[in-house]
Formats: sequence, structure tokens, C-alpha cells
Amino acid sequence: MKTVIETKGLSKTYQMGDVAVYALRGIDMAVKRGEMVAIMGSSGSGKSTLMNLLGCLDQPTSGDYFLDGKNVNALSKNEYADIRNQKIGFVFQGFNLLSRTSVLENVELPLFYDRTGRTNNPKKAAVEALERVGLANRMDHEPNQLSGGQQQRVAIARALVNQPAIILADEPTGNLDSRTSIDVMSVFQELNEQGITIIVVTHDSDIALYAKRIVELRDGRVKRDGLVKNRRSAKQDELDFRNGTSRIKVTKFAEIEG
Ligand code: ADP
Ligand code: MG
Repeated sequence: MKTVIETKGLSKTYQMGDVAVYALRGIDMAVKRGEMVAIMGSSGSGKSTLMNLLGCLDQPTSGDYFLDGKNVNALSKNEYADIRNQKIGFVFQGFNLLSRTSVLENVELPLFYDRTGRTNNPKKAAVEALERVGLANRMDHEPNQLSGGQQQRVAIARALVNQPAIILADEPTGNLDSRTSIDVMSVFQELNEQGITIIVVTHDSDIALYAKRIVELRDGRVKRDGLVKNRRSAKQDELDFRNGTSRIKVTKFAEIEG
């Protein structure tokens, strides 16, 4: 499979007055098309900083980032914004939906930033994205009329509306209870099966086991990078929950290779 993301010595230092904060200290990482990667690490280990760089929301202090083989550092400001809008969808912990704005309009929003005009029918594209997350029947609702899990599904639809090759999700289940988290992870697993590359930050080792691979950060470096041995199916876990036969247990790194 083709490499879609590659970083070489990616570093980020924040300058806080006189103090330098070394958030990332040389990340070498490659992600192939169709992978589903969980990024783990304790608070402050650099996960969000890495996601912001991978998502072209921020630029590194040093090192290189190749997105689809293109060195992102070499792009102009407009090219940089375009590549972000066309290739990447974002999902955040707090959903980041606009209140007093319909679900449909929330999902349409990224299309108004897409200068390529790839879709001349934003509504149709938004309805299709909502269908993919099973929420087309809620498109006239406002976010506060939906449950947390449904709001996160709307945010996923918004991330999908530009038909990105990659979805980056930073703690997408951080505000959700475990059952709702499984529901959201089943959406990610399904999208991954449809070919979308997914990178999801989580500090929850149970959630990470829905990924195919786990990269663990520590103090701005890759501490561990390996495939998940006994990958979990969120669909199956949902069924088990419904049937009262849930065997969800705490699983630690013992079940991860590498
Ligand atoms: P994580 O998401 O793993 O909790 P972050 O990437 O948010 O970690 O942060 C990594 C380090 O960089 C932390 O020490 C944090 O305090 C620091 N940091 C993050 N963002 C900024 C910023 N905008 N300005 C200064 N320091 C920052
Ligand atoms: Mg973070």
C-alpha cells in the first residue's frame, strides 16, 4: 500500500517567553493508505501537537512532513490550506459543532472553504455524509437536541463531507461514556474498511485496540510502534453490549506486538 503520511525528524518547540517547550523531538513515522492508527501517550507527550502538524494546522520547527509524497513545508500558504481541505478531515474531543445551527448546515460548512468547487451541491454532499454515519434523519435538528454520541457522528459527517483520504481524530471519545465510545469507534472502523486512513489519538488502551496499529509517544518521541495483535471489532462489542454478553475487559500493552 502507498505511504500517505511520512515524517522525518519532525520537531516542534514552543517558545514561552524565555522557556522553550520541546513538544516533539524528532518524530519518524510512516502511515500507509488504509491503516488505522491509534496514537497514545500520557498528557503532554505531544499527541495533539503531532496531530496539528499532520493535519497542516501548524508548522514544525524542523523536520519534514510528506503528505501523499509532497513535502508540505515547500507549499505556499494557499496550497497548504487546499491540501488540508481536500485530503484531511478532523474530529475533535469537544465535537466543535455550531450551536443554533442545523446538523445539515454544520456538515455543509467545510464545503464553503473548499476553493476547488468540487461539489456544486453542498446539500447533497452533506446529506450523503450524514447517511454514512446513520444520521440523515436528524439533519434538521440542532446539535443540543442530540446525544453526545450523535453529536460526534455529526462531527464525523462534517469531516467526511470533503471526501478526505485521511481522518484525524484527537480524543474523539474523550467526552463519551464507554458504550457511546464503542459506537463512535464502530463508525471509524467502518470508514476505515471503506478505505479511509484513520489516525486517532486516545489515552484509553481499550479504545486503542480498535485500531490496527498503536504508536505510543513519550516526551515528544516515539516510544513504541506496533501492530495490535487481538484487534477488537466495535460492531461485535456493541452486539455483546446489547445482548448483555459483554466481555469488555481492560487490556494492556501485553496484547500489542512490537
Ligand atoms: P498531549 O496532546 O499529548 O497532551 P500536547 O501536544 O498538547 O500534548 O503538548 C505537548 C507539550 O507542548 C506540553 O508540554 C504542552 O504544555 C506544550 N504545548 C502544547 N501546545 C502549546 C502551545 N500552544 N504553547 C506552548 N506550549 C504548548
Ligand atoms: Mg492533547
